[in-house]
Amino acid sequence: MSDLFRAIEQIESLEHTRTTNCPKCSAQKEIQQLDIYADCPNCQTHYKVRAFSANIEIEDVIAESLAWLIRDNKFDEIVESIKNAIEDD
Ligand SMILES: [Zn+2]
Repeated sequence: MSDLFRAIEQIESLEHTRTTNCPKCSAQKEIQQLDIYADCPNCQTHYKVRAFSANIEIEDVIAESLAWLIRDNKFDEIVESIKNAIEDD
């Protein structure tokens, strides 16, 4: 199985949100999967929940894909093209 095929499978099964725990008081908070920071609902600590590193994670691939999508104001054009391709399937 190729790495790209595996990446597509990971994206398809990835939830939009996940739960994180505050490093100071352990309070749980639901965050968006691509969030990099969170604010604790209990003690208001601002903490990092995801970091760009040498180990590329599927969230990094999605974030980079979204950055590509909005580059040069091509978002609407590209999304329309994808919608048409899905409808033709
Ligand atoms: Zn906290």
